[in-house]
Amino acid sequence: MSENYQPQSGNQDLWHTIFGPGHPDLNKQHRFHARLPRDPRCKLCFAPFEGLGGFYLRFKGKGRSNRNPNFCNACDGFLEAFPGGAEVEMSVIFVDIRNSTQFAEGAEPAAVSGRINSFLDAVTDTIVKSDGFILAFYGDCVVAVWPPGFSGLDHAAKAQTAARRLVQQGAAITGADGKAIPFGVGVHTGPIFIGTVQAARGLFRDISIFGHGVNLTARLAGAAQAGEALLSEAAVQAAGQGQDLPRRALELKGITGETTAYALG
Ligand SMILES: [Zn+2]
Repeated sequence: MSENYQPQSGNQDLWHTIFGPGHPDLNKQHRFHARLPRDPRCKLCFAPFEGLGGFYLRFKGKGRSNRNPNFCNACDGFLEAFPGGAEVEMSVIFVDIRNSTQFAEGAEPAAVSGRINSFLDAVTDTIVKSDGFILAFYGDCVVAVWPPGFSGLDHAAKAQTAARRLVQQGAAITGADGKAIPFGVGVHTGPIFIGTVQAARGLFRDISIFGHGVNLTARLAGAAQAGEALLSEAAVQAAGQGQDLPRRALELKGITGETTAYALG
């Protein structure tokens, strides 16, 4: 997703199991860790880093990795030992913040960062409550996925619910200054390559997504009006809901032919 990172190959069956049907050991950890307070958590196993849960797990030898703060030491070790990825059918959302360059022009850097951070908190909360998995904040964009192994077989319906909630919250999602932050949402369901990426230099590893479906989702988010979510035809079909939403034919940059999108909001 970023030119600074290279996707890694290998361990395809393992990665397919984790994000496709779900790995039983990891899913057991998810259920256990999700009950322990509190955020922030390891992106892969949901182990809490703060609060009583964080204290308990540190006592058990599991803490935040000191070279990769998004993961616990166990999962960071796992990413190092089993780099790779697989193509899995899943749902994806991009949330694209509008006019942030304009806002940044006339504001103090601290105000810009505060405004964006409280927006990201609100969006993250809605996505996590809809069983989504936050992959990354890319500048002005929040990227989240619903892999069946994490989110269940009804991932497309859950992603659509998240999009609906984001659109409904709309102007209520404000920055630290209390002003609404306009944003557009793109939603898609399809085969996505998910796996580890390695920084061109150094050891830093993360999980990222690649493929046509990722580009399509980003373009849909970019084409959405402020306060609107655009769903691909595949997203609507996989969810089995939303067929009655207003439809638009779009010409999207880098996508051949017309794209049919369903508009929420
Ligand atoms: Zn972990």
